[in-house]
Amino acid sequence: MLNLDLTEEQQLLEQSVREWGARAVAPRIHDLDRAHQFDRGVLPQMADLGLLGSCIPQKYGGAGMDYVSLGIASEELEYLDTSLRVIVSVHLGLNSLTLLSWGTEDQKTRYLIPQAQGKKIATYGLTEPSAGSDARGIQSVAIKKGDRYVLTGEKMWISLADVADNFLVFAWSDLNKKKQRDPNGISAFIVERAFKGFSSGTLKEKWGILAGNTGFFKMDEVEVPQENLVGREGEGFKIAMFALDQGRYTVAAGATGLIRACREASVSYARQRKAFGVEIGSHQLVKEMLAQMESDYQASRLLWMRAGWLKNAGRCNTKETGLAKWFATVASERAASDAVQIHGANGYSDEYPVGRFYRNCKGAVIYEGTREIHKLLQADYLLGYRTDRPTRCELPPYA
Ligand SMILES: Cc1cc2nc3c(=O)[nH]c(=O)nc-3n(C[C@H](O)[C@H](O)[C@H](O)COP(=O)(O)OP(=O)(O)OC[C@H]3O[C@@H](n4cnc5c(N)ncnc54)[C@H](O)[C@@H]3O)c2cc1C
Repeated sequence: MLNLDLTEEQQLLEQSVREWGARAVAPRIHDLDRAHQFDRGVLPQMADLGLLGSCIPQKYGGAGMDYVSLGIASEELEYLDTSLRVIVSVHLGLNSLTLLSWGTEDQKTRYLIPQAQGKKIATYGLTEPSAGSDARGIQSVAIKKGDRYVLTGEKMWISLADVADNFLVFAWSDLNKKKQRDPNGISAFIVERAFKGFSSGTLKEKWGILAGNTGFFKMDEVEVPQENLVGREGEGFKIAMFALDQGRYTVAAGATGLIRACREASVSYARQRKAFGVEIGSHQLVKEMLAQMESDYQASRLLWMRAGWLKNAGRCNTKETGLAKWFATVASERAASDAVQIHGANGYSDEYPVGRFYRNCKGAVIYEGTREIHKLLQADYLLGYRTDRPTRCELPPYA
């Protein structure tokens, strides 16, 4: 049976994030954005709301919510500001949920539990200066020496690079396979900021998600104990793709929240602003933009909810999650552009939030699979060129 009503628990979550956002975030976000300032103070508050471990089981320190709840939280967070949703995407989506499925009990005890409780912050390092979409092009290497791996390389465009304590890092552990670009030569590791040889920095020239932290980190012969290998040697590429199935879900739901923020700001402005003696909302071409926002919002929400429903049932969802991410992020770019348009010159000023929405939405059309990569994936599924599924597509079911 299909039921799109939110449960009481989900409604409560939605309401608590909304109330917290209105009180603690909305009054400050404009200034944080203008100051390019990441506010570490939100982290304990998000932890108190259970957002840093929302759908991690309670036995691993999480709130034991379901995946639709993760979508709700992501939508509400990006309604406030993209920087907040990004925290959940990398900390929980890309990192903790991956440890939940792929980590050993020892890794769950040492890393997952403190992350789910918000005592440690985590992120995901795949992208490098010379390789983004083409993940096999990474150059980082992990050389086995006795009971450790020695990691050397540089990761770029990493969300929370200068904030996180723990990093899920991908590097070539088989140099012959690296030469052949055989992804079975890539492995995944948990690297701590505290490990010798690790350093990080913040990218200063970014023009969107200004209240978020994005940066790089370098590993200069960082010694990682073999207990920190995630999965088996050579399973890193699969793990990286598995992680993206979780991160993309939060990005899809987040972009849906951004469309809602654009729609609300635009409707409100269209009722106030007059041109040619009438509210601009009564001009047909403005109505067209508002109606498009509404259809984009509703369709995006249904798509992320379907992906969440599949996740709750422990079913494969790579294609559906990818479609939700692609559709919602492209729609959010359209909504943000039209929201600025509806605001006219005022939209071009930081007095109104729509300019921030416009700057923030573009990143999601690039990260976690660009628009073009997602188009290719969907077409390849249709054409039968892609039938592969992650070996562990199923998450613990909540249905
Ligand atoms: C704000 C932000 C935060 C990020 N956070 C993280 C993070 O936390 N961790 C992380 O690992 N990475 C992160 N990234 C990196 C992000 O995942 C990459 O930027 C993304 O994968 C694209 O890679 P690229 O920038 O190297 O672009 P490229 O791969 O060089 O692509 C450039 C262009 O070529 C197109 N293109 C490439 N290949 C094809 C193809 N086969 N067919 C058609 N077109 C193609 C692309 O679509 C794009 O338009 C972040 C990026 C941003 C902007």
